[in-house]
Amino acid sequence: MSEETMLNSLNIPIRYKKHLLMQSLSTSSTDSHIKKQIATLKINNKKLLPHWCKQLIMFPIQNICNKNTNNPDVSIIVGGKEFDFLNLSNTSKNIELNNFENIINYLLFERYFLHKRALFTRLPFSYNLIPPFFRNMIRKTNLKKKIDIDNDINTSINTNSNKALKNKFRFPTWPVEPSVDVLRYLLEKALEIKTGRKSNHWPNNNKCCFIATHDMETETSFRNISVIREIEKRYNFNSSWNVLSNKYNLNFKKLNILVKDGCEIGIHGYNHDGKLSFLNKKGVAKRLNHAKTTFARFKPTSFRSPILMRNESFLKELSNYFECDSSVPDTDILSPLAKRSGCCTVFPFMINNMVEVPLTLPQDYRLIYTLNLNPNKMLKLWKEKVNYIYNVGGIINILTHPDDYLTGNERYLRVYERLLHYISKKEDVYHDTISNVARGWKEKMYSK
Ligand SMILES: [Zn+2]
Repeated sequence: MSEETMLNSLNIPIRYKKHLLMQSLSTSSTDSHIKKQIATLKINNKKLLPHWCKQLIMFPIQNICNKNTNNPDVSIIVGGKEFDFLNLSNTSKNIELNNFENIINYLLFERYFLHKRALFTRLPFSYNLIPPFFRNMIRKTNLKKKIDIDNDINTSINTNSNKALKNKFRFPTWPVEPSVDVLRYLLEKALEIKTGRKSNHWPNNNKCCFIATHDMETETSFRNISVIREIEKRYNFNSSWNVLSNKYNLNFKKLNILVKDGCEIGIHGYNHDGKLSFLNKKGVAKRLNHAKTTFARFKPTSFRSPILMRNESFLKELSNYFECDSSVPDTDILSPLAKRSGCCTVFPFMINNMVEVPLTLPQDYRLIYTLNLNPNKMLKLWKEKVNYIYNVGGIINILTHPDDYLTGNERYLRVYERLLHYISKKEDVYHDTISNVARGWKEKMYSK
């Protein structure tokens, strides 16, 4: 792993490369590694403290190189011992980073949890063939055994979570997991101190970015396009609509209207059976090419995996097909992948040549079906997360489903409307469709 690869994943402009001196331990090294432990971040230089985060930063790590000098600007504490993490050093031009790329990649690529394949994706047929009543029954019995989410909701957005976090390590925390964003902030702040140049993430010096995306699961979602668009138009927001190529009758007329309106058509896969990310290259190609051919007239460049099923090698394979993907939440709970998962950042990052745009507001399905939240609680949670992302300066990326049983339903449509109203009142928010945002993000890498 070179400095350039790491800068590429975080999309730090390449011109900064000369200012960095990086050391990491490769996983094969034997002399000084500690396996799968918990690290706590300690920021000793007050100039580097992120103003938007009071939370104690703890994350799992796999291997660390145990360099230990006197009082570095930032250190990590692992197993009671303190190790160097970031050093600005007055005498050198360079910023010294230890373990940085290891940690970043471990978290961004979700290497910290075991990717088990959910049972329903192993069925010889699509889970969609099981009647919804039975599907719900199975889902609810499974949920009961799982985790106490109230603890998360009450602690992680409000900053008093440190005690709770220390008592019981939960990772990632939900609905906010600030670890990678704090690490990014440290690096950018250190570069700013060294070079005198501030990094900006969005065009025209905007503070934050907003994109709206919809996944169309059933045919009913086509019927609800116009009511959703009516609301979005009121606030001048365009959105991306992700479609399946082999699940329902396609209404191209309606999709055409969306494009004429300034919206974007993205690919949501082939038939939503949850198997796509587990197929071999040939199987993936067959399905993705079917979808790309079906929707060729829209020149789709963005993708969202059905049920957000993903793994590192699948995402890397996707980069051969799409300019951007949005299948990885920053933090998620009780997904079919794992109890807790996510890339731990509210900024886009690069996977090979593809821009990964994390899903940063909890999707409607998770709040309505998994957590049984009522519309008021949903809105409150969304607004709090919007505020967090706004303060960090990241991307607000929402996934709603236009189907009858989710945001297409009047009850939840009103929540969506109130959320858009809330976002529209904020100043300096850049808005575009996902592909345009991704293109701009990628260009930044080579900016002078
Ligand atoms: Zn879907």
